[in-house]
Amino acid sequence: MIMTKTIRQSNNSKVWTIGSILKWTQAYFTEKKISSPRLDAEVLLAYLLQKERIYLYVHFDEPLQENELTAFRNIIKKRAARIPVAYITGQKEFMGLTFKVSSAVLVPRPETELLVETAINKFSDYKTVNFADIGTGSGAIAISLAKLRNNFSGCAVDISKEALTIARTNAEIFQVSDKIKFLQGDLLAPLYEQNDFNKLDLIISNPPYIPLSDMDKLEPEIRKYEPANALTDNNDGLGFYRRLINDSSRFLTDNGALACEFGIGQSAAIKEMAQKNGWGKYEILKDLAGIERVIILWKQKY
Ligand code: SAM
Ligand code: GLN
Repeated sequence: MIMTKTIRQSNNSKVWTIGSILKWTQAYFTEKKISSPRLDAEVLLAYLLQKERIYLYVHFDEPLQENELTAFRNIIKKRAARIPVAYITGQKEFMGLTFKVSSAVLVPRPETELLVETAINKFSDYKTVNFADIGTGSGAIAISLAKLRNNFSGCAVDISKEALTIARTNAEIFQVSDKIKFLQGDLLAPLYEQNDFNKLDLIISNPPYIPLSDMDKLEPEIRKYEPANALTDNNDGLGFYRRLINDSSRFLTDNGALACEFGIGQSAAIKEMAQKNGWGKYEILKDLAGIERVIILWKQKY
């Protein structure tokens, strides 16, 4: 590999510093068509050195040790193979919390923070909020709600046993295990089993929504490394909304709501489902990029 040789050869003649290795890595990642080469280089080096990113900027001239160079070379190789940064570091920030992630779970996305913020805002005056997070993955949504708001507790469902293991670990890390019950099953099936009829204030979900036909157009980071069953319904991308919009109402209290994230261009189809399925008022919220991203459907509010 050219890259490996370059570092080794140069290492004989010159000392690699934080500044020079960042510059080199940025150029190499650019060549590998990675979309945020500088940021990734910094995040990965900071991770290796177990420092904050800001540390790098005030220590540009600090030399790297041989063992650090060897370890960083391995990290660079992984990223060049388009493994997502979060799978390399094993962690991802969401709602200001650092979640543990593995390739068994979707990397929590910044746009999903809108879904969590919507739930927090809309239920701020409820004394208690009994929620179900459907398709919890890393647990990002359920755990943020339980950690950031005392009045939120409930359950988190996923079909993937491996994902639930990560979610449970995150719940332990954030000390909210007593507020969230983790259940394995298909969508709302665990709620039937628990007899949750008319009991929940909030059903919240970021379901897989990428149409099967779009899967081969995704960036390699997503297509090759994230779990396919976290991304697509193996259909037109709307399958999970059909099921959730059809079946959720019976589990909700009269003041309850279903809140979902959805993908770009899915808003019209989802609005139509909402109108046809006997829900009360519904609201659509836009993300920071001005894209319609979240729908909240009230069981009985008009
Ligand atoms: N909630 C996490 C987040 O927002 O970062 C993960 C969302 S990911 C888009 C969808 C999740 O739904 C995955 O963890 C996947 O395993 C789960 N899932 C897929 N099909 C499911 C099903 N039929 N029943 C329950 N969960 C399912
Ligand atoms: N937001 C993810 C993406 O665009 C998809 C996650 C999902 O299907 N809910 O890659």
